[in-house]
Amino acid sequence: MLELGLDVSDSEKKQNAPVLSVVAPVHNEANNIEPLIQRLREAISKETDRFEIIFVDDGSRDGSMALLEKFSKLDNRVKVISLSRNFGHQVAITAGMEFATGEAVVVIDADLQDPPELISDMVRKWKEGYEVVYAVRALRGGENFLKKMTAAVFYRLLEKLTEFEIPVDTGDFRLMDRRVVEAFLSMPERGRYIRGMISWVGFRQTGVSYNRAPRSQGGTNFTIRKMVRFALEGITSFSYVPLQLASLFGFICGIISFLMLIYVYLSNVFHNQVVRGWTSLMAMIIFIGGVQLLMIGVLGEYLGRLVTEQKKRPLYIVRRKTNL
Ligand code: UDP
Ligand code: MG
Repeated sequence: MLELGLDVSDSEKKQNAPVLSVVAPVHNEANNIEPLIQRLREAISKETDRFEIIFVDDGSRDGSMALLEKFSKLDNRVKVISLSRNFGHQVAITAGMEFATGEAVVVIDADLQDPPELISDMVRKWKEGYEVVYAVRALRGGENFLKKMTAAVFYRLLEKLTEFEIPVDTGDFRLMDRRVVEAFLSMPERGRYIRGMISWVGFRQTGVSYNRAPRSQGGTNFTIRKMVRFALEGITSFSYVPLQLASLFGFICGIISFLMLIYVYLSNVFHNQVVRGWTSLMAMIIFIGGVQLLMIGVLGEYLGRLVTEQKKRPLYIVRRKTNL
């Protein structure tokens, strides 16, 4: 009897298991939550009834958490993980993906910059057999020139620095098959640059393009400092080129100094001219000193990350879960 009972509930569970999980990181998005849930529900119900929306509250200080709890009481497909403090966008997404049980997982920003309606296109591609469908930003609305410029330069630079392809102009808005999610979750690194990690795992990947809307409420959570840190994370996680620059600079300096030696020697022999040019000497010393300091800085970036990795702290800490 008991066994039979277990059996039934197990298969029942399977039948109700979500096909689609949506993961949305939330940091102070109180004004966006209600419209987001509405639009998500509408967009996803076109595809399936078996879905879950997992909100990861990343240490919000506005009313976001209370709102999320309220909506999770009304619909048990709305699930909430509340982190013990602000762990950052990338970690919040990882937390959500760990709890997601769907056959496909969609990661979406909570500020409505990523249109939920695009999920239908993603699902279509997924059903065609693609395991990763990422959203490509064709137009970026409401973002200032500086952000667009730095983003364009950075993504192209990163592409040059890495040995595998990280698609340009994509964010974390994407659909991933269960197999990809498992592969992603098997990567233990602390320094998480998700779009790079998902490219790294391989599988069949494709993009669907959309026009990025301006933020609907509030301002961006990313300051210049956060953006620089994020960019450094992307580069140091996926490329050793900056470290190799040391050899390159050394090589160039070597050649220059060799040429200068020849010049000094020849001018000594033919013009009997010795030791002039204190200025050029100083310039060289300062230049080489600068290059050395820069390269020590680069070493520091990698070394610091090594320390963080080897501490093996948990990625995040959960304070509370609802409907999970
Ligand atoms: N976010 C987060 N933790 C943070 C910063 C942002 O969970 O420390 C969430 C935020 O609520 C939003 C998404 O990550 O849903 C993207 O953040 P934002 O819109 O500030 O980034 P931008 O669109 O400016 O790149
Ligand atoms: Mg945004």
